[in-house]
Amino acid sequence: MTIFKSIDQAKSLVKQLSKNKSDELILRSISKELESITVFARQLTDETVLSPSPSKPEIKSGCYIFANAKGFFCPNCYDNTGNKVATKRLNSKLRVCPECRASIK
Ligand SMILES: [Zn+2]
Repeated sequence: MTIFKSIDQAKSLVKQLSKNKSDELILRSISKELESITVFARQLTDETVLSPSPSKPEIKSGCYIFANAKGFFCPNCYDNTGNKVATKRLNSKLRVCPECRASIK
């Protein structure tokens, strides 16, 4: 990750500067900002790794349908946990998810 390299570079530059006492307060707040940027960047990359989401599933009758799986799947469960939970048909207009109990029209 080049962003982490840049942050580390900035951190070491700040460390070199902080030998000069007069700027210490400013440098300390810059370091603090850099820490938040590091945390933020890490979260961003984590999210990218966790949810590659190559293509959003298609929606049909309020359910997700997938090209490689047969059936109607609960969008709540898929969005929240990534699990494909097949919904059950209650009647001609209503489906229900056995996992999260959502009713889907
Ligand atoms: Zn569900």
